[in-house]
Amino acid sequence: MATPQASHSHSADVKQARYPLRAREEPAIVQADDGRQGLDRALQIAARLQTTLEVDKLIAIFAQEIKSSVAYHSMSYQHPEQSLEITLGEVARHTCSYRLVVNAQFLGQVVFTRKRKFTHNESQTLEGLLCSLVYPLRNALLYREAQKAAFRDPLTGINNRSTMSVTLRREVDLARRHDMPLSVIMLDIDRFKSINDNYGHAAGDSVICAVAEAVGTCIRSSDMLFRYGGEEFAIILNNTGPGGAVLLAERIRQAVESAGCAYNDAVIHFTASVGVAFLDSKDDDELLFKRADDALYQAKAEGRNCVRLAA
Ligand code: GH3
Ligand code: MG
Ligand code: MG
Repeated sequence: MATPQASHSHSADVKQARYPLRAREEPAIVQADDGRQGLDRALQIAARLQTTLEVDKLIAIFAQEIKSSVAYHSMSYQHPEQSLEITLGEVARHTCSYRLVVNAQFLGQVVFTRKRKFTHNESQTLEGLLCSLVYPLRNALLYREAQKAAFRDPLTGINNRSTMSVTLRREVDLARRHDMPLSVIMLDIDRFKSINDNYGHAAGDSVICAVAEAVGTCIRSSDMLFRYGGEEFAIILNNTGPGGAVLLAERIRQAVESAGCAYNDAVIHFTASVGVAFLDSKDDDELLFKRADDALYQAKAEGRNCVRLAA
């Protein structure tokens, strides 16, 4: 049997087995699905599955545990809506697949492959063993959702403030260790209070989303965007020096200025002020952030709708 190798991606749920039709093939190594023995095995597996709430680990434990019951070459788990795809082992020609569903909720699809066909008994054994996976898997998926939600700003869908502090600390450490440049951009919508006052809070919310979207179109996938406060955003740019950061900040400022936000029959226009700071030898994460914030206040003081680089 191939050594399991984990690769990340996912999906899975419901119950739709495609049974191999010929039962004349080689028997499974162990038929653990019958009576007491099968029940004990399922309970043992369930106990091991309770040791983790991480989907990757859960699938790896399950894949390992069931090997002694049914031989296979690969096991994969997919849940496209959750962007999950895990494959363990080397994919072979014959497949046996299951959709996992609990209370009409799709939990993903599990596919086993093997060079030899799976027998009917083996596919039944697998089905029985999968029953021990569904509830721990459902918990792990819920946990994953909760974790993702904890890092996200509910209005804009981008990273939230608490994620920003942790990320900035990590990025400063990494930049120091690898002697790489690091920059931070702070952005604050100009005279936002008057947008709320003139058009109402809901329109203000739409403007915040429009700004997040405009900034999102300017940045690379390695740049990290956060909603830092009500109408304030922060962007962490790893591997970016002051020249690149100021260029990007100016592009962002222009994108925000030309974005506009539809409101009833009108379009609300808005601008933002931007501060940029580049990690220098005296900075820690807090000082770097403060310098970017100071540059932002300088941009406000010098007329708004402009970019300033921290000294
Ligand atoms: P400045 O140009 O100096 O930044 O002026 P400003 O009006 O943008 O700044 P100020 O800090 O005075 O006002 C920010 C306003 O943002 C006040 C607050 O009520 C509003 N705000 C904060 N969070 C939200 C939110 O989530 N949605 C909406 N609609 N408004 C918010
Ligand atoms: Mg503000
Ligand atoms: Mg403001």
